[in-house]
Amino acid sequence: MTQSYRAGPGFRKRGVISRLSDLIWPPRSLLSDEIVDRPGVIEPTLWGELKFMSEPLCACCGFPLPDHAGPGDQCGPCLSGKPAFDTARAALAYNDHARRLVLDLKRGGRRDGLQVFARWMATAAGENLARADFLAPAPMHWTRLAVRSFNQAAWLAEALAKASGKPWKPGALTRVKRRKSQAGLSASERRRNVGGAIKASAGVKGKTILVVDDVFTTGATLEACARALRKAGAAEVHAVTLARVVRSTDILI
Ligand SMILES: [Zn+2]
Repeated sequence: MTQSYRAGPGFRKRGVISRLSDLIWPPRSLLSDEIVDRPGVIEPTLWGELKFMSEPLCACCGFPLPDHAGPGDQCGPCLSGKPAFDTARAALAYNDHARRLVLDLKRGGRRDGLQVFARWMATAAGENLARADFLAPAPMHWTRLAVRSFNQAAWLAEALAKASGKPWKPGALTRVKRRKSQAGLSASERRRNVGGAIKASAGVKGKTILVVDDVFTTGATLEACARALRKAGAAEVHAVTLARVVRSTDILI
């Protein structure tokens, strides 16, 4: 039962069978295999294992800063080279428990946490969600989409759009070159791998856009999205992710 719920390849195709399975199998905790009373629940004993990002954060990329940092302070990398996005925020610091949420979503196709993830991401994005004209998911190349059958960033953007009442535009960003998997690549390799691979539609001109993705790892994907949006004339580019790597040892995801 657990294996079916946690999703194998068949589960990824969100057809009639998988929707029926949602009805047949009881909801389980997002962080364990315990049965819970409704979807999207985390037991109190595991709740404290999630590390929600909180101030002080780099005003630009959202990296945690020392306690004495003030509003508007930025981290060293942002001061030495401003990213193409105006701000990036994340709901969770990436740790073993956030990793499970992310992998269940992106590799397992597990959707029952989307509503709660959207609430967390709305809080993290704050006023930058309120000022956005629309949300744009980080894109996946069509060949990868054909194999996986879903883009987890689009699921998150759709859920955040529903939670906030903002429109979302899945076609605002497209991936025009297939890249290698980012897993195992260093920050500079990730930048090279994703550079020039993303294009923005003409509809972004003059708009304030909130890019949505699952994880901020090195920032290479969001940087490529933001550059494409700037090139197409976007007025402001903000980003929000479910989780953010804060320890370099967590980059290999
Ligand atoms: Zn920063």
